[in-house]
Amino acid sequence: MEHIRCLIIGSGPAGYTAAIYAGRANLAPVVYEGIQPGGQLTTTTEVENFPGYPEGITGSELMEDLRKQAERFGADIRSNIATQADLSASPYKFTFDDGSQVEADTVIIATGASAKYLGLDDEKKYAGMGVSACATCDGFFYRKKVVAVVGGGDTACEEATYLASLASKVYLIVRKPYLRASQIMQDRVLNNPKIEVLFEHNTEGLFGEDGVEGAHLVKRKGEADEERYDIAIDGFFLAIGHKPNSDIFKPWIKTDEVGYIVTEGSSPRTGVPGVFAAGDVADPHYRQAITAAASGCKAAIEAERYLTAQEI
Ligand code: NDP
Repeated sequence: MEHIRCLIIGSGPAGYTAAIYAGRANLAPVVYEGIQPGGQLTTTTEVENFPGYPEGITGSELMEDLRKQAERFGADIRSNIATQADLSASPYKFTFDDGSQVEADTVIIATGASAKYLGLDDEKKYAGMGVSACATCDGFFYRKKVVAVVGGGDTACEEATYLASLASKVYLIVRKPYLRASQIMQDRVLNNPKIEVLFEHNTEGLFGEDGVEGAHLVKRKGEADEERYDIAIDGFFLAIGHKPNSDIFKPWIKTDEVGYIVTEGSSPRTGVPGVFAAGDVADPHYRQAITAAASGCKAAIEAERYLTAQEI
């Protein structure tokens, strides 16, 4: 079986940054790109909040640059998806979707999280053209425009409040007759004159010529009564939760009730010696490219220290 000193699973900002640091530390990192090469950023358009790009950069270009930088320091980047992990004893064993297997002395889990979508065809049709799952990433493009946010949890309330500071009006589309968010977040939303909460509403579709221009809504009115109508919006933001891509590690690694990997304090240590977690898979709070990159850096430094201490 192929033996790897530093295995990195995932190719978002966390995975590639870990690869840059591990490569420069002579750990011969091998990166498996996973389901979405380049990670979630490749699904957004312009990235304006990653330091070092005063004019902004597209998500795809940023990830391509990070990939090249990792390759410059010797990272071996492969396109497979990890389907099985065995972290019961070091070296740790992995199986990939093509049936190949490797064993590794250190592992950096940087598999990210996937935003949940409603499952409408129109979400795909208007991806990058008015549909977004990240207000911090894309809110800036909706200054003085009208947007809708879907969801009733803390993320939805936080995103609606953030968007209200930029947009002229925010609809919050909530499927239940109440918000699930913490009281303080609810108060912020309900007291914000720019936010209109549409309780007991669902979205049936979106419409628009060259991008989102509106949404088809359905309002539940009593047991069997429904009312259908359209709202005019420029942007449609999903905030119905994220799913961390941690399933294959769960038998060995502690996760919270949603599935985020629980690390030791602010370190990337997972509790399994030599196995570290970086980026969104271990971050329910910030979920930014720059915070993911920083945790990838920490994970690579920890991996290097672990190998030195173990004299591997
Ligand atoms: P949650 O799971 O808490 O909330 C998801 C929301 O989306 C719910 O209102 C849910 O509705 C709704 N929803 C889910 N699926 C659909 C659907 N198909 N159609 C319409 N609505 C849907 O996710 P969050 O991302 O908001 O929060 C995740 C965790 O992170 C929570 O523990 C939260 O407290 C925490 N968090 C904390 C923050 C803070 O403290 N500042 C900020 C952000 C998150 P329903 O209620 O009907 O199920």
